[in-house]
Amino acid sequence: MNKLNHVFDLFRISTNFWFKKESCSYFPIRLWIEVSSRCNLSCRFCVNKNLSACEKGDMEVSLYKKIIDEVTGKVHDVNLFHRGEPLLNKNIIPMIAYANKKGVKTRIHTNATLMDREIDRKMIMAGLDLISFSFDGFTKEEYEKNRTGAIFEKSLANIIDFLEVKKDLKSKKPYTIIQVIQDGEALFCKETPEHKGVKHKGVEQKSAEQEKAFLENFKGLPLDKIVVRKPHNWGGLLTIDKINNEITEAEKAEEEAEAKPEVETEVKAEVKKEAKAGIKTEIEAEIETKEGTGIKKYACCTFPWYSLTVFYDGRVFLCPQDFEGKIYLGDAGREKIEEIFNGAVIRDMRKRFGYGRIDKIDNIIPCRDCDRIRRKTFMGIPLEYLKIFLRDNLME
Ligand code: SF4
Repeated sequence: MNKLNHVFDLFRISTNFWFKKESCSYFPIRLWIEVSSRCNLSCRFCVNKNLSACEKGDMEVSLYKKIIDEVTGKVHDVNLFHRGEPLLNKNIIPMIAYANKKGVKTRIHTNATLMDREIDRKMIMAGLDLISFSFDGFTKEEYEKNRTGAIFEKSLANIIDFLEVKKDLKSKKPYTIIQVIQDGEALFCKETPEHKGVKHKGVEQKSAEQEKAFLENFKGLPLDKIVVRKPHNWGGLLTIDKINNEITEAEKAEEEAEAKPEVETEVKAEVKKEAKAGIKTEIEAEIETKEGTGIKKYACCTFPWYSLTVFYDGRVFLCPQDFEGKIYLGDAGREKIEEIFNGAVIRDMRKRFGYGRIDKIDNIIPCRDCDRIRRKTFMGIPLEYLKIFLRDNLME
């Protein structure tokens, strides 16, 4: 897909999203294809460990090829991961190569524990476009607390090895990201490798220093970016506060504000101010639309207008936050992606989201409890993903 076509697709998607169209006369531009739902770790911010044995498996190559054949020339990229560790699928290299041959961009998100120099070389040679390493912690203590079953030194060495292989091969691809989940307000995102002029707005000094020391490991290596994110709640499956067993002062204040109706006037004033700036706030997403009715607004979710998520066995679901597969849309093994993208269930979901009212989705799990629609957004895109969205779609 060339750049111009992609920009046109984005425009078309945005128009359909803004007007909350129920039927979309285009293909989804991004697919999550779960090449494996198995995982070798049991991390605290991930609910994979709660999946039953019958929900774990690897995608067959024949199913994968059927999907790629259908979306060739139509999707912008495919994420070859979802609930599991993609490198557990023994066919992952031929899968990347197949998509690459067809001109479909591939992206992988891995915990880096199963990599070695041979696999690194094969992935790069197969034409992988983006690799993102889950490395949730700048220190051994933090990393091993978050990534249960992984060893800090080993995972770090695997990433360094990968970057050295990439450098030796003089390959620009794959675009290489290290992603770190942090559960405070320390949320930021920036480009490397210069590591200069980095703004640590809102980041605690300690975290910034730890991060700086961590980045020293990659000096002179072709690491493209480090992203620090908040954990999300997997459509309500994960209670972050419970995990941390602590609650921040800001969160306490927010909870108290919710419990006191008299603060509503102030809240509304804040919303008006933010709305003028074109930014929907978390507060706006939660504000009551009718006094005393309990009907609330929220930020409309963009997923139903641009993507689909395919589980390892071919079942298709609405979004990658639907970890347990509650909103079933179809079967990619038997149906066409195009048809699934405009089936009755997804059209109904677009209609429900179009109302922007919580009562329209209050019986829909996982949307009802999902934090995605409660985050700060700009034109429907959560602010924390905005920069990534622009880079992925308009700048590369
Ligand atoms: S609101 Fe629903 S569709 Fe959107 S990300 Fe959350 S679970 Fe998925």
